[in-house]
Amino acid sequence: MENIVSLCKRRGFIFQSSEIYGGLNGFWDYGPLGAELKRCLKDFWWRRNVREREDMVGMDGAIIMNRAVWRASGHEETFSDPMVDCKTCKGRFRADQLDATPCRQKPSLTVAACPGEKTEPRAFNLMFKSYAGPIESDENLVYLRPETAQAIFVQFRNIYDTSRMKLPFGIAQIGKAFRNEINPRNYTFRSREFEQMEIEYFCRAEDGLRLTDEWLEHRLRFYEDIGIPRSKIRVHEIPESERAFYSKKTYDLEYEFPFGVSELEGIAYRTDYDLSRHIQHSGKPLEIFDEASRQKFVPHVVEPSAGVDRTVLALICEAYDEEEVPGEGGKTEMRTVLRFHPRMAPVKAAVFPLLKNKPELVAEARRLAANLRPHFSIAYDESGAIGRRYRRQDEAGTPFGITIDFDTLGENGPATKGTVTLRHRDSMTQERLPIKDVLPWLQQAVF
Ligand code: ATP
Repeated sequence: MENIVSLCKRRGFIFQSSEIYGGLNGFWDYGPLGAELKRCLKDFWWRRNVREREDMVGMDGAIIMNRAVWRASGHEETFSDPMVDCKTCKGRFRADQLDATPCRQKPSLTVAACPGEKTEPRAFNLMFKSYAGPIESDENLVYLRPETAQAIFVQFRNIYDTSRMKLPFGIAQIGKAFRNEINPRNYTFRSREFEQMEIEYFCRAEDGLRLTDEWLEHRLRFYEDIGIPRSKIRVHEIPESERAFYSKKTYDLEYEFPFGVSELEGIAYRTDYDLSRHIQHSGKPLEIFDEASRQKFVPHVVEPSAGVDRTVLALICEAYDEEEVPGEGGKTEMRTVLRFHPRMAPVKAAVFPLLKNKPELVAEARRLAANLRPHFSIAYDESGAIGRRYRRQDEAGTPFGITIDFDTLGENGPATKGTVTLRHRDSMTQERLPIKDVLPWLQQAVF
């Protein structure tokens, strides 16, 4: 994990937020490569779950909503973790994680084992508070949303009425969520500001259990399609005794992170709980009319809810590799390589002129890079030995390197004129490709 964290900083994937002021616990910034990686993930999630399906639509809701939403959803009353205070070090800790949290004064001990006197556990609400408007009164109190899902429930009627969708159908949303976690930890895994990719899939009661299993399969395939194999994901079915009382089935999808197996996504069959609560609290008719039975009913819902930041972290952990490769003078050397699936790679291809002091090579390479840029994220690099330039791209996870060399210019005869060297990151093998085929070849390779 230490090597991964250090690579992420060195190469500009992830930085501590407000780092020059000492940072802020639980908040992170994504640098150039991290921002591209995140974008690839969100774009592909949207493509798979919204654009490729006839039964899905998207939405983009506000982060701050009427406080009544959080009363109805139960968050104001119950979205809390139990915490204890230590009277010796004045630290505040999650009561259910005392034996996994190091003591602040003596980190070799856990909080559970340290002799400091602790208070009884108390509920600590995880929602960040603010005020809408100039007066800081109870009436103006608002919360930063702790999940994106509620915006979907409260707009269900509007979307149903305007989109002409028929059951079963789903509404998807990607957006920021905020939780004032008591102990943010494991790098970006548990942050106070993060992004979620959530789906509420509305259906009839009799289809809920079956659709939950269909979503499980669909989501496992998604992880495979971004380069996280099934063998690295554990599906944990939550037993009835641990499920929310309204849920008839819940799966957690967990990934084997270097710091332990931990949740990436939850898939919950939430019955008609959420819409019913909003009907009760708002007094608005969120039921839909069934033509066949001529009766109104409240749709049930299956919720696959995934974290952007946790998936980004899993992608980096899964891609990270160090291996011995042949180096200069017959010696071996270590290379660090991020083996991202090409569709997730922050930079899709790097273009190199073999030598920077040969103007024809530079001009041809710059022309190719400019032609590719409207289609993908492209790196151009002309400095240093070509082997070193390849290594730099290996560390960034760039799957393909394209070198403009003397063959391209036709200096080694007509057979290879107009071709480039295409180098593959993982196998380090090289092949020749006509320069006019580079764009369609890449389009297909990263789709
Ligand atoms: P945990 O048990 O780890 O706190 P949760 O079960 O409370 O998570 P959900 O409320 O189901 O999480 O949220 C759905 C998804 O949102 C999670 O699977 C995770 O990917 C993401 N998520 C939740 N909390 C955080 C956080 N503090 N930091 C980063 N991602 C988070």
